[in-house]
Amino acid sequence: MAESAVRIRGIIFDLDGTLYESDVYAAEIQDAAAAYIAGLKGISTAQAARQIADTRRDLKAEGGVVVTLSSVCTHLGGTSRDLHAFFAGHLHPEAFLARDERVVSLMTRLAQQLPLYLFTNNNRLLTNRIIDLLGLNGLFRHIYTIDDDWIAKPDEGLLDLILAESGLEPSQALFVGDRYDIDLRLPEQRGCPVYLSQSVEQLLRLEEMLG
Ligand SMILES: [Mg+2]
Repeated sequence: MAESAVRIRGIIFDLDGTLYESDVYAAEIQDAAAAYIAGLKGISTAQAARQIADTRRDLKAEGGVVVTLSSVCTHLGGTSRDLHAFFAGHLHPEAFLARDERVVSLMTRLAQQLPLYLFTNNNRLLTNRIIDLLGLNGLFRHIYTIDDDWIAKPDEGLLDLILAESGLEPSQALFVGDRYDIDLRLPEQRGCPVYLSQSVEQLLRLEEMLG
């Protein structure tokens, strides 16, 4: 990794579960998705939660990879657009997420050395609220959210777009995310270096890896 590290010219971060970790907020997201599906299908939230779990398991078994909550909800008859409108109205990241000075320092130092990008399956409204809460405002050269075009990661077109707009060669673009199948598999196949980070502790070690 040390040899590839010297070539890195930009870092593309996932947001949720990567730049913060919160099991309780992750649970609130799952609950909100269940409430959305329950409303859509006229069933209880417990039934909806079960359908979401079953669908996620079935889609994973079919495709062999982890699937996004958006694709699970789409499979159950919803749309990404409506799911995210529901999320924007019902989720309260302010109640769960707090600024971590270690992450703010890390990201500030990195932003002084390299262009940073955010690439998230979250929507613009919640993304802005979350980066505000985390104290990461102004550190990203560009923020890509699902409501740019309602296409979610993993998607080759989006990957191409980010590489083209950033002007980075694949070997220069480091992708950082907490879900390999969603955030990292496609970039890695394209020849981008990737860094799996599933905790703040792992995120803080990113700098060591960069050397
Ligand atoms: Mg994530």
